[in-house]
Amino acid sequence: MNKNKNFILALDQGTTSTRAILFDAQGRPVRSHAMGLRQIYPANGWVEHDPGEIWQAALACARVVLKGMEAGDVAAIGITNQRETSLIWDRRTGTPLHNAIVWQDRRGAGRCAALKTRGLEAAITRKTGLLLDPYFSATKLEWLLENVKGLKKHDLAFGTIDSWLIWNLTRGKVHATDVTNASRTMLWNLKTRDWDDGLLKLFGVPRAMLPEVRESRGDFGQCDPMLLGSAIPILGVAGDQQAASFGQACFKAGDVKSTYGTGCFVLVNTGKAVPKSRNRLLATALAQKQYAIEGSIFIAGAVIQWLRDELGIMAGAPDSEAMAKRARPAEGLYFVPAFTGLGAPYWNPGARGAILGLTRDVGCNEIVRAALDAVCYQTRDLLEAMRRDMAAAGLSRLRALKVDGGMVANDWFCQRLADLTGLPVDRPVVTETTALGAAYLAGLGAGLFRNQQDISARWALDRRFRPAMKKAERERLYQGWLRAVTQVQ
Ligand code: ADP
Repeated sequence: MNKNKNFILALDQGTTSTRAILFDAQGRPVRSHAMGLRQIYPANGWVEHDPGEIWQAALACARVVLKGMEAGDVAAIGITNQRETSLIWDRRTGTPLHNAIVWQDRRGAGRCAALKTRGLEAAITRKTGLLLDPYFSATKLEWLLENVKGLKKHDLAFGTIDSWLIWNLTRGKVHATDVTNASRTMLWNLKTRDWDDGLLKLFGVPRAMLPEVRESRGDFGQCDPMLLGSAIPILGVAGDQQAASFGQACFKAGDVKSTYGTGCFVLVNTGKAVPKSRNRLLATALAQKQYAIEGSIFIAGAVIQWLRDELGIMAGAPDSEAMAKRARPAEGLYFVPAFTGLGAPYWNPGARGAILGLTRDVGCNEIVRAALDAVCYQTRDLLEAMRRDMAAAGLSRLRALKVDGGMVANDWFCQRLADLTGLPVDRPVVTETTALGAAYLAGLGAGLFRNQQDISARWALDRRFRPAMKKAERERLYQGWLRAVTQVQ
């Protein structure tokens, strides 16, 4: 190993921002730079991003964090990205042919409903591990192929955001994606680990336009030396939630991580066999030929944003901690934040939010507490479904929950999560686990980290929150939550 090459550049392209973080050989973040990303809303329920803006921001952020570095200082680049977001471009010119269609975009809802009516969901789930929903790439790509004018003139390339960044970093030399991103397209078969010809036919996608699928810890070419001053190899790529799972060192079957940002994503590693959820969770690919069961909650930190921005009952999200501490018990008060319907395991797009059990003594503090409680109860909903799936797969019981994301800075929330789920909640020192996961993947490839044990050894606990609530009380409160959820559906 070249002694000088002691840093890894992680590019983290998210839904609302693009970031570059430089990690040292110990896996510590040493520099970072972020830029916001414009959200484009062309119609009700449609969300787009400008691919040119994404690439320029990634390049600009990388240049900021590499400023003053020598050409040989950086051993590798790792990429992590918002998943499912889809775009097409011309291979000859590299020009995008439309804005990228973002994961949140619902324009494929009608098409998904029609496919469900034809009874195709079970077969699609068997192949891809996904449920028939416009969230995934297939109906986005189908829409682009049907609606963008003049496509016949072009030599088409499709990509999720990772492919788009790789293409640009290598100046069109490499058109590739990784298994974790491929597994969110609804075109990739979890068992054969290849694009699925039946699905390509169903969605009208020519195989020739698809990227080559490589392992997350793999060789994705080198960035053009003109871009960042030297030809740095791209050695790790993973979708954001899978990268977070890697960054949390969830390497063993049964390891589970839960990320609390705008929404919440819980992934449990299920090992080398393709899992099957009987409880309407998703099956998805992890790095290193492993798989996971995944559950998502649409509204987590977003409920705090709503209380701050729409109701104006706090100045900043961190105020929620002191307010929750001051709250009176307010027995029977429940906040169901189903602003955009309910995700796993309910999957009810028609549900809407409600605050139930209001009494005269309920004020802002109590409402804030009920909102934080809701994120804990929804986590328990996912864990209950996961427990059933894990038992069916012969996996042992969950031992602890590794958490990360913006909300876990809130100690009160972490303790409450332990109390209401009955599991110890482990908060690591580095909560930037998404970028860290991409850096670990790339660093393994570059020889900065020896193996997974080496990475596991670096995982450092900041604090463990142990359940302190009596079981009877936990169950009584949870039954109240289940009744509240029934009332909004
Ligand atoms: P994303 O990556 O989805 O943009 P982050 O991981 O940056 O999200 O987390 C930001 C979210 O966390 C916001 O929704 C914010 O409301 C919430 N949040 C941030 N700090 C706190 C806090 N101390 N207590 C509760 N929620 C918080």
